[in-house]
Amino acid sequence: MSISFYNFNDLHHNEFKKNIMNRFQEILDESSFVEGKYNSSFESKFAKMQNAKYCALVANGTDALEISLIVSGVKPGDKVGVPGITFYATAEAVLNIGATPVFIDIDPTTGLICPESLSRTIKSHDLKAVMPVHIFGLPAPIKEIEKICNPKNISIIEDAAQAQGTFVDGKPVGSTNNLTTFSFYPTKNLSAFGDAGCILTQNEDQFELIKCIRNHGRGKEFMMGRNSRCDHMQAAVLDLKLDEIDKLNKQRKAVAQKYYNALKELPVKLLGKQFIETSSWHLYPVQFENSALRIKAAEAFKAQNIGSAPFYERALSQEPSLSQYEGEDKNAKELAGRSLCLPIHPFISDEDIQKIANTLKSVF
Ligand SMILES: *Cc1c(COP(=O)(O)O)cnc(C)c1O
Repeated sequence: MSISFYNFNDLHHNEFKKNIMNRFQEILDESSFVEGKYNSSFESKFAKMQNAKYCALVANGTDALEISLIVSGVKPGDKVGVPGITFYATAEAVLNIGATPVFIDIDPTTGLICPESLSRTIKSHDLKAVMPVHIFGLPAPIKEIEKICNPKNISIIEDAAQAQGTFVDGKPVGSTNNLTTFSFYPTKNLSAFGDAGCILTQNEDQFELIKCIRNHGRGKEFMMGRNSRCDHMQAAVLDLKLDEIDKLNKQRKAVAQKYYNALKELPVKLLGKQFIETSSWHLYPVQFENSALRIKAAEAFKAQNIGSAPFYERALSQEPSLSQYEGEDKNAKELAGRSLCLPIHPFISDEDIQKIANTLKSVF
């Protein structure tokens, strides 16, 4: 029996299929294709769920980051801090609006942005904003980052693309006064049938500006915006999935706890083991002593038809398209290539965990 990295068949079970087809029929009958009633329904439910005042759906997670940077007043040529290791889109968003990324190093035991590195970096770089990423679903140290950034008026944009279900300092991600962005790409914890994303804010002026920018800057007059509207069909999917998301995230957490018990004796570091209760467990990263062992483990999984994924193989500065940018990333480079993510969708069985643990043991 193979164990896949993602499982869409169980996620989109028959009852869900029936309900979503009804909604699609309704949308077709109404011809309400963009920004319909499920957009507003989702926005108000999701804001409430994440403890934010306002939620604005947009077309994808990268747009959510770019629009948040614009709303924060980041201008072309400004510098923006990004973690040394994250998904490429975090840095891409900075470059897409004409700003310059500056790398902030990470904590090697979690992969999360390191406040000490941020403190050092702002001495030599005049940052306009910083983008902590709740990487793998683990909560970034937002309170410490706020202590560093608030006195200097450095905006904070939390990239929560992997963190629907994460608790930061005891509260759902999105509860802070920072702009918080999500991606609802199909592989994320909360997922559309294609691309979608959103931005959470506590600030009404920011909310109005986001709504204006996502719709071509349409107001009394037009200002420079873009098309980043969310389709009604995607909103209908997201709105329906909210009914089940807490249950599914609990199932991920239970899998993480079982992995911990099954793997704790092995010579690997379990990144984020202290966050069993507070991570969304979007990914389950295991850190090996060296990249040769990581490759050996990936091969062993492949031979057993077990999905695994090498997030992340390179630090951002090791991407040729980003190698010219400055900052600190020694730990990020150290971590890159040594971590491998195990399957952690909500439908991993105890048998699967046993098989995965046995396969990993066979590597040593
Ligand atoms: C997925 C992801 C994004 C980008 O989201 P898209 O919806 O693909 O644009 C940004 N940041 C992180 C950390 C992600 O995981």
